Amino acid sequence: MSIEKIKTLIIGSGPAGYTAAIYASRADLNPVLYTGMEPGGQLTTTTDVDNFPGYPNGIDGPKMMEELKAQAERFGTDVRIGEATKVTFAKKSDEIHEVIINHETVLHAKTIIISTGASAKYLGLESEQKLIGGGVSACAVCDGFFYKGQEVAIVGGGDTAAEEATYLSNICSKVTMLVRKDEMRASKAMQHRVNSKENIDLKYNSEVVEVLGNNVVEGLKIINNKTQKTEEINITGFFVAIGHKPNTDLFRGQLDMDKTGYIITNGKTTKTNIPGVFASGDVQDKEYRQAVTAAGTGCMAALDAERYLASIGD
Ligand code: NDP
Repeated sequence: MSIEKIKTLIIGSGPAGYTAAIYASRADLNPVLYTGMEPGGQLTTTTDVDNFPGYPNGIDGPKMMEELKAQAERFGTDVRIGEATKVTFAKKSDEIHEVIINHETVLHAKTIIISTGASAKYLGLESEQKLIGGGVSACAVCDGFFYKGQEVAIVGGGDTAAEEATYLSNICSKVTMLVRKDEMRASKAMQHRVNSKENIDLKYNSEVVEVLGNNVVEGLKIINNKTQKTEEINITGFFVAIGHKPNTDLFRGQLDMDKTGYIITNGKTTKTNIPGVFASGDVQDKEYRQAVTAAGTGCMAALDAERYLASIGD
């Protein structure tokens, strides 16, 4: 079996991975990028991206990812469809990391940039899944603007839900916030911000039974889990803010992670605990999670990789 030797392997094809690829290819690191099973990442599930600098009229999410890919390829990045299915990071002596793609192709990489992202959690209701992109969204900052002046709902009781409910309340006429327990998990400061907004209708002990509407969201059927009373509310946008899951299962036991599975990077760098392995984008960021911040850390990872390769005499 022949083993392909690669200088810089990038795993993941969101804004972080492609930005790392642009910088790495321009620095002659000959990057190979594997897209993973969702080429383009989370932005391919959104419609207009209006908050990425440089696009005054906004850009369609999938189109933006195609352009990032084209930009990376223009400088020589070898973009391949495939998923890393096993990794064995280097023992200190050999400085070679082994990665298996699609359970069969074996690669040896001197440096690896991990940009596998995070996936938003959804409730899992059939009616919700059907309407993703039709009024169901997991990102208020991305999609809230489309519901300007309209009535929306958000589910979740953590910091993200509280922050996004507050954000939406500045754009939308009314925000119904659904919290499944009789208290919120969000910090007291965040709860205070929610409570100070007159147009946020906070409903505790409330769960979503069904998202109503055929092609677009028209309402929600909700249940009070204490009284078992159900009701329907009219809304045009439904935001799910019940957490994200970083795509790091593959690296468990080898890379340092926090208790929720986000990769820990060293200070302001993208360095992981393994020399030559870097992490960029949402896989190491549960705070900001924006395309532009992911792209920024992708750039940093490529620069860190370049310096690392220079330090080992490559
Ligand atoms: P969290 O895991 O903290 O909160 C998830 C929330 O969603 C909880 O209220 C949980 O309810 C609820 N939930 C989970 N599953 C369901 C379900 N099936 N139906 C209904 N509700 C559900 O996630 P966040 O994204 O809010 O935050 C992640 C991390 O990021 C946290 O550490 C947070 O502090 C941090 N963060 C910090 C911010 C800041 O400081 N500015 C901003 C955003 C995030 P329950 O409580 O009942 O389990």
